[in-house]
Amino acid sequence: MSASEQAPVPQYQIGSDCPASHRFQVVLTIPAPDPAGQVLWLPDWIPGSYMIRDFARNLFDLQAEDGAGRPVDVQALDKSTWRCAPVAGVLQVRYEVYAWDLSVRSAHLDQTHGYFNATSLCLAVAGQERAPAEVLLQAPAGQADWRVATTLPALAVDARGFGRYRAADYDALIDHPVEMGTFDERRFSVRGVPHRLAVTGRHRGDLDRLVADLTRICAAQIDFFGQPAPFDEYLFQLTVVGQGYGGLEHRSSTSLICSRDSLPSADEPAQPGAAYVELLGLCSHEYFHSWNVKRLKPVELLAPDLQREVHTELLWFFEGVTSYYDDLFLVRAGCITPARWLELLGKQLTRHLRTPGRWRQTVAQSSFDAWTRYYKQDENTPNEVVSYYLKGALVALCLDLSLRAQTGERASLDRLMQWLWQRCLGGEPGVDEALLRQWLQAQVGDALSAPLTAWLHGTEELPWQALLAGRGIDVRLSASEPVTLGVRTQAGEGGVALTLVTRGSAAEAGGLSAGDVVVAIDGLRVSADQWNARLARYRPGDTVQLQTFRRDEWRVVGCTLQAGSCDTCELALMADPAAVRLAGWLTAS
Ligand code: ZN
Repeated sequence: MSASEQAPVPQYQIGSDCPASHRFQVVLTIPAPDPAGQVLWLPDWIPGSYMIRDFARNLFDLQAEDGAGRPVDVQALDKSTWRCAPVAGVLQVRYEVYAWDLSVRSAHLDQTHGYFNATSLCLAVAGQERAPAEVLLQAPAGQADWRVATTLPALAVDARGFGRYRAADYDALIDHPVEMGTFDERRFSVRGVPHRLAVTGRHRGDLDRLVADLTRICAAQIDFFGQPAPFDEYLFQLTVVGQGYGGLEHRSSTSLICSRDSLPSADEPAQPGAAYVELLGLCSHEYFHSWNVKRLKPVELLAPDLQREVHTELLWFFEGVTSYYDDLFLVRAGCITPARWLELLGKQLTRHLRTPGRWRQTVAQSSFDAWTRYYKQDENTPNEVVSYYLKGALVALCLDLSLRAQTGERASLDRLMQWLWQRCLGGEPGVDEALLRQWLQAQVGDALSAPLTAWLHGTEELPWQALLAGRGIDVRLSASEPVTLGVRTQAGEGGVALTLVTRGSAAEAGGLSAGDVVVAIDGLRVSADQWNARLARYRPGDTVQLQTFRRDEWRVVGCTLQAGSCDTCELALMADPAAVRLAGWLTAS
């Protein structure tokens, strides 16, 4: 059957009569609405970003009419659900969406480009979510040179990419974000699969270098899970800004934001600079998600309710394991050396050591409460929350190295991921902790049963130090400050603003709070630049008088300094080459 002969399906006509006003106009035509009155709803969150975002707050002027152009009543049922009065025949719904959020999670439109996730623009037609839907994408007014970058399957589009697209169902519709504009573009092939890079925003980056590195990373990941790749094409949608960092994974694309300085320069050294390594790690992370979370999923997220929070204890696996593999694939693909990878891991361990919340929250709890804790951070977050990305990656490291050590390299996290993927190809995409335990049991019996319980559901330190030593990696721990108040600081009005007061610290005991501004230590004015050097003059047990302001009110606070803890980690290969065992793990076996 040709496209024109296909049964009529809901169609979203998307355009803008004035991009500078940041408003998309949408016309939704429903050929066969619910005879009892069509319900329409918009997601309150977008898969991959676990926070209620209330996208409907940017939807305005919702109106409906029947096939003869007569107005149809629309009643709001809640903040993101509406019901149209019953009509005979076609129902047409019109609305505007205000698009001025330059993030990977919603929609953005101005004279320079347009970007949207359908979670922001496309009302779901209740009862028809599993049916196909069309998008008629129109070039916004006055933008004759704009082109389109999306992996939405095209039905009939012009040379610039405007025209008709068709998604298999609503789930697919919201999983192919659309970029429109005058982006820089590169096309490349990886293991026979067409890949595309579209870069929005002014820059002077070396995109050929980026493509060369992406090609190696993508090839390594496709080979890891086994050909064929799970998509027919893949798109990296990259927006460059002054300061920014973020990505969101989709089934055959990713939306990324980075600072323009993280693009490779024309003379980028063979061993890339730190900012570029971070960008490659982000690309690697989102690409790995094509398997781990876009196809393999926590059982709770197989068919999620998009209008309320969906809780799972497994984000440590889907984000943490992905975080473990993102940098690992940079070294496996040859983009960085093993020594450089150890530097990156050392920095991650340092961040972990500087998170007091790791003694308070388990990584399973952190996963479960992502919606209201990790995604809604405040000044108390470091005290109470552990990152399921960071601790999850360290659990992955410990699982991987434990399996390798206990089975003489026969079993590993690699084997687990590949087993899960084969199971997914066989029609079983759901993952839960019991399934992971079942596989571990088959590999090593009970050996990892109690440790895994402690790692996921306890707060004691993970055994990364001993496991790294077993591979010939020296762990050097040191204190970043000889004495400490237990605070984090930044420059504040007339002094030093406290951004964190650590639970149980000298500062807390003395009565300091996040938000306080310290203007002097023992009667001497202090600035953020002088802070560390000034405190380093004291010894543990010394009491300092801090002159501070809170809500403009002056207070003097006495604090008894504590010894700094070992909060800094550096890793290095042991001097004895016979002790170093990276083959099969960091490098090819
Ligand atoms: Zn992720």
